[in-house]
Amino acid sequence: MNAMIPRPTDISRPFWEGLREQRILIPHCQRCSGWVFYPRRHCTHCASHDLAWTPVSGAATLCSFTIARVPTLPGFAGPEPQNLAIVTFSEGFNMNSALTGVAPEDMCIDMPLRPVFDVMDDAGHTRLLFTSA
Ligand SMILES: [Zn+2]
Repeated sequence: MNAMIPRPTDISRPFWEGLREQRILIPHCQRCSGWVFYPRRHCTHCASHDLAWTPVSGAATLCSFTIARVPTLPGFAGPEPQNLAIVTFSEGFNMNSALTGVAPEDMCIDMPLRPVFDVMDDAGHTRLLFTSA
């Protein structure tokens, strides 16, 4: 098995299955309306367990980034550096990801982003990347 392929847990499985369908599903607290990412059993705002997987558009902005010119893992080796990013969704939560199709010199804080569903293999495993909107 490719070490880069996501291994869903009981808690994270809906997120990964959503990506296969090109949907971004995020736990949303039914008690306080807080968004919870990464997926957990409880709300990080109010500790409620009443979470519902809720679709979001993936509209985001670039919160922070670094250019990894040496691959962070062998499976990420390629001709391009890794544009590692923390993105802020329009709903307000952050996610670690990477930018694709953006030259490092064109990356800037607060740039608008849209999601890219990167299908990693023939089995349909998909990861969520971002590119310039
Ligand atoms: Zn809550």
